[in-house]
Amino acid sequence: MQPLNSAQAKIILIDGNQRFVDGTASHNQFDPHQHISDIQEQKPFAVVLGCSDSRVPIETIFDQSFGDLFIIRIAGNIVAPSQMGSIEFAISKFKAALIVVLGHSNCGAISATVDECINKTPLSGSLYSITDRIKPSILPLIDLDLESHELMNRAVEVNIINSVNQLQSQSPIIKAAINDHEVEVVGANYSLKSGVVQFLT
Ligand SMILES: [Zn+2]
Repeated sequence: MQPLNSAQAKIILIDGNQRFVDGTASHNQFDPHQHISDIQEQKPFAVVLGCSDSRVPIETIFDQSFGDLFIIRIAGNIVAPSQMGSIEFAISKFKAALIVVLGHSNCGAISATVDECINKTPLSGSLYSITDRIKPSILPLIDLDLESHELMNRAVEVNIINSVNQLQSQSPIIKAAINDHEVEVVGANYSLKSGVVQFLT
């Protein structure tokens, strides 16, 4: 089978999310006998950089199964060197054509960062390594004096866009793949309330 291009990969994810929302998802079950080929060799058609939030199980919300998605999860779907390395590995090794940065509503990492910016709430230990990567993109929003719900929604969105921009610009491997039209990096936002994934690009 020909590898999927980014547009085809995106359609599969959109259709899978639609099934999830409609309640017609295939509820993939693992059977070691039936799925033997899936566990011998993987050919994921997309890479997803998502948040660790337990309410956003990525295969489930896209109705995908074993071997379909190469997923990196970290609080706040931020881009740090190890996330970048995992994504470079996935596109080099598996030729996945679509990279999705998936944020979500009411993200705890975003709200901790907003709280830190507004109330100077001290954070514990290594949490700064997460919030310091979110802060630069949301700081301009803090000065706009937005209502808290609106501030959170916009902060989630700018943080997704920031991660997309970093992936597009900071990795020579991803950059070369984009220039060769082999890879597309897109942002998407998952609503905890509706279950809908909205692609931003
Ligand atoms: Zn989150």
